[in-house]
Amino acid sequence: MTATPGQDDCLFCKIIAGEIPSDRVAESEHAVAFRDINPAAPVHVLVVPRRHEPTIGALAAASPADLAALFELVAEVAAKEGVDEHHRLVFNTGTDAGQTIFHAHGHVLGGKTFTER
Ligand code: AMP
Ligand code: ZN
Repeated sequence: MTATPGQDDCLFCKIIAGEIPSDRVAESEHAVAFRDINPAAPVHVLVVPRRHEPTIGALAAASPADLAALFELVAEVAAKEGVDEHHRLVFNTGTDAGQTIFHAHGHVLGGKTFTER
């Protein structure tokens, strides 16, 4: 088992534990995917490792297996949402980059044409 204990004050740990509701679209042994509450695109799904690490870099350092499992679920979500051929995968790291929740997560964004970088 690679999961680490959740952090008491972490919103995503609470969502993963089912203590806070979410619109879950997929899950695996190592990761959970649910719709972003404030979508920036017609498809906007957050893919979140069950293991609590603050950033994607910290997850990569702590557990390459969890990182790989995260990307597997990203692919599953993109296919399920019909955006496997056209989507963005965004990981914000740090407040200057717009990270607001310090439990690593990827944003799967699709269903529109992106013009800005
Ligand atoms: P980030 O800014 O990269 O840390 O992403 C955090 C994302 O979580 C934002 O896009 C928020 O809209 C989203 N978010 C915040 N609270 C919830 C929630 N309760 N359920 C689903 N998504 C949420
Ligand atoms: Zn957490």
